[in-house]
Amino acid sequence: MQTPNTPGRLAAKIALITGAGRGIGAATARAFAREGAVVWATDLDEAAAARTAREINGHAALLDVREESHWVRATEAIMAAHGRLDILVNNAGITGFVPPMGPQDPEHVSLESWRAVHATNLEGVFLGCKHGIRAMKTSGGSIINISSRSGQVGIAGAAAYAASKAGVRNHTKSVALYCAQQGYGIRCNSIHPGAILTPMWDPLLGPAGPAREAAIAEIAAGVPLGRMGAAEDVAATAVYLASDESAYVTGAEFVIDGGILAGAEAAPKPRGS
Ligand code: NAP
Repeated sequence: MQTPNTPGRLAAKIALITGAGRGIGAATARAFAREGAVVWATDLDEAAAARTAREINGHAALLDVREESHWVRATEAIMAAHGRLDILVNNAGITGFVPPMGPQDPEHVSLESWRAVHATNLEGVFLGCKHGIRAMKTSGGSIINISSRSGQVGIAGAAAYAASKAGVRNHTKSVALYCAQQGYGIRCNSIHPGAILTPMWDPLLGPAGPAREAAIAEIAAGVPLGRMGAAEDVAATAVYLASDESAYVTGAEFVIDGGILAGAEAAPKPRGS
C-alpha cells in the first residue's frame, strides 16, 4: 500500500475517487498517485476498482454512488485508516445510452430512465458531497464534481443526462458557498469535460475498426482543437483543483472540451465565404 510521504503536488493527501474503474476516474487515480496522493479507487464494478488500485498501489472499495450506506462505509473506512479525507472526486456518471434505458430525448425518455440517470449523476454527487463534507469538515479539503459541457447547454438526444449535469453544476456552487459560510476549509468546484475518448463513448462509436475511426474523425472535426480529448486532459485539471495551488478557487467551473463551448456550430458563415 502507498504511504502518505511520496513527494509531489498532492503529497500526503488522501483521495477518494468514484467510478475509478476506467476512463476519466482511472486516469485521475493514476495522476493523483503520481503526485503523491494515497488513492481510494472506488467503483460500482469492484473488480475494475481493484485493477486501478493495484496499478497505483492504492486502495479499492465497492461504492455504488446511489447507495448512501456505501458512502457511509467508504468514508468510515478512510477515516479509520487515515483519520482524514482531503480530496473527493465525484466522477461516476452514466449517459443513459445503454440498453434497456431507451430513447433519451425530452419527448420519449421514460420516467424510469430519467430517474435512473439522475440517481447516478445527480443524487450520487449529492450523497458524495454530503458525506465528503462530513469527513472533511475538521481538516478541510477539495471536492471536485465531474459535470459535463452538457451541463451548460441543452442536448436534444440526452435530456436526462444534460439536466442531471446542470444539477451537478449548480449543486457544486451551493456546496462551495455552504462550506465557506461554515468555515470548513472545503473548496468545491466542477469540471465540464466534452468529447473525451473513454469507454463511455463505446455504445455510440461501436467496436474497433474503420467505422469507429470514421466516427471519431467526424467528432474531432467539430472540435476547434481538432481531436477528441484524452482522460488525462481532464485528470490534469483535477490535480490542480485537488492541490493547494487552487487554494483561492471555489464554486468555479472548468471547461475541458477542446474549445467546443467557445463557439456555436450553427454560427452563420462570414459574408463573402
Ligand atoms: P466511463 O468510461 O463510462 O466510466 C464511468 C465509470 O463509472 C465506470 O467505471 C462505471 O462502472 C462507473 N459507474 C457507473 N455507475 C456507477 C455508480 N452508480 N456508482 C459507482 N460507479 C459507477 O465514463 P467516463 O467517460 O470516464 O466519464 C466519467 C465522468 O465524466 C462521468 O460523470 C461523465 O458523465 C463525465 N463526462 C464524460 C465525458 C466524455 O466525453 N467521456 C464528457 C463529459 C462528462 P461500470 O463500468 O460498472 O458501469
